[in-house]
Amino acid sequence: MKRSTLHKSGSPSASSSGLKKLVAGVHKFQLEHFEENKLFFEKLAHGQKPQILLITCADSRIDPNLITASQPGDLFIMRNVANIVPQYNSDAPSEAAAVIEYAVSVLGVADVIVMGHSDCGGIKAVLHPEKLTTLPAVSSWLNHATTAASANPAAPACCSLCEEAQRLAETTNNNILLQLKNLATHPSVAAAMANGKLHIHGWNYQIENGSISYFDKDRKRWCQL
Ligand code: ZN
Repeated sequence: MKRSTLHKSGSPSASSSGLKKLVAGVHKFQLEHFEENKLFFEKLAHGQKPQILLITCADSRIDPNLITASQPGDLFIMRNVANIVPQYNSDAPSEAAAVIEYAVSVLGVADVIVMGHSDCGGIKAVLHPEKLTTLPAVSSWLNHATTAASANPAAPACCSLCEEAQRLAETTNNNILLQLKNLATHPSVAAAMANGKLHIHGWNYQIENGSISYFDKDRKRWCQL
């Protein structure tokens, strides 16, 4: 694509500084990364064969390719507030159901990862639903996660701030496990798991240090990846 084409269609003249930065980034990508990896993108243009479906939060601080050192084409990704997977409902298939069905039945992914993260605004709202009175859509969506709320931290906390942090961490973990349970209600997932073609995993990414913990199903505990 020629830069002049982009200037015409995406002129940032009357737009926000955020959009100007983004358009400059598009040009930088085209001139540098794309030029240096033309063969890779030409190959990619003929189709996708990702082996992983990653379900994660819409939070802007999560960059799935960056934190897994993966490439375009490696991950089929579904994102929403609080990495939620609504239970399968044959009467009202959700957007999530369509993504999951396509990933499992058509793309044939071998693994599905539900990945939560630290400091998740969606999970904070699950713990404080009273703050959602002016956000009916968010409030309704988070109903899929309310049973994950941790009432009391498992370990005693030294102060109210620490107790809140513990509740947030526990609720984030609980929510990942809850969404894995919901994931297994989707017929395509259940069938592929039953014949050993699909495995599902719970991950929790810590923004502050880049670490990821995973839920060890055998030991029934969270471990570092
Ligand atoms: Zn989040």
